[in-house]
Amino acid sequence: MDLDAKIAELKAAFEKDAATVPAEQLKSRYLGREGRVRDLFVLLKSVPPEQKGAAGQKLNGIKAEFERRVEELGRTKAVAAAAGALDLTLPGRAPEFGRRHPIYSTWDAIGRVFMKLGFDVVYGPEIETEANNFEALNIPLDHPARDGFDTFYVEPPYLVRSHTSPVQIRTLRSRKPPIRVIAPGKVFRPDKPDAGHSPMFHQVEGLLVGPGITFAHLKGVLDLFAKSMWGPATSIRFRPSYFPFTEPSAEVDVSCFICGAKGCPVCKGSGWVEILGSGMVHPRVLENCGIDPEANTGFAFGMGVERIAMLKYGIPDIRRFTENHFAFLKQF
Ligand SMILES: [Zn+2]
Repeated sequence: MDLDAKIAELKAAFEKDAATVPAEQLKSRYLGREGRVRDLFVLLKSVPPEQKGAAGQKLNGIKAEFERRVEELGRTKAVAAAAGALDLTLPGRAPEFGRRHPIYSTWDAIGRVFMKLGFDVVYGPEIETEANNFEALNIPLDHPARDGFDTFYVEPPYLVRSHTSPVQIRTLRSRKPPIRVIAPGKVFRPDKPDAGHSPMFHQVEGLLVGPGITFAHLKGVLDLFAKSMWGPATSIRFRPSYFPFTEPSAEVDVSCFICGAKGCPVCKGSGWVEILGSGMVHPRVLENCGIDPEANTGFAFGMGVERIAMLKYGIPDIRRFTENHFAFLKQF
């Protein structure tokens, strides 16, 4: 009769689905509140009263059967998954420990020296204005560093900072002397990557401004820095140089900490290694920031963190820092 035919039809459909449909889906499709078994129970209303008992039993029977089958299917699947995931004969997987990246540990080591001397750490944005990156630092429009090839431009007047020196400008404008800060950060230059160049690298900038600050203070601070980083036997020397934002300007070398200044490949036989640029803050830079250069003087310096890390760990290629090779990073 009608109900028997429908039950047979439903069983056939269930068998077919059971082969392909996941157990949870099978359960809702057949046994859910709007499932197909429920649809058959609705038909019970049209069954003559004397047949209702038998029909109800049949429907309960099919429902119980489907419930058992769904449960079985679920269990089989769980066992299969467990068998695939768990092989007790395999050796255990030890957790890998993270390490501080050599750039950041070098950065920390530099920062610790200056923080002991009372320098504050300040940060600036990586997207800067041309005015902060160049003009305020006394870098005129015709200066070679303004060439589009040496700076990543976003959209005028914005650019991606090519040095951390704009943080000097932001600090000189927002604080009153005495000012004593270091500014670590990422800087960007459109250089073709090779062993010595990377389009992104890190700098630490230092700035000290106040009444009566002289070159002797710069020398004292950097000498202490070199001795703290590379040991008490380290000495420094200044070589005259040129930067638009300092006057006078000097490059600073430290006695080679690899060979003890005897001469080696790192210092190219000279016994000296260049580590940073420095100088007395140009009076025009102070003026640009609303500080009276008659009442205050100051010094600034900037160093490349990659360069210091390369010297510290004997790393021959700057690209190693950003390649994320685990074998390289594991050594530090
Ligand atoms: Zn050397």
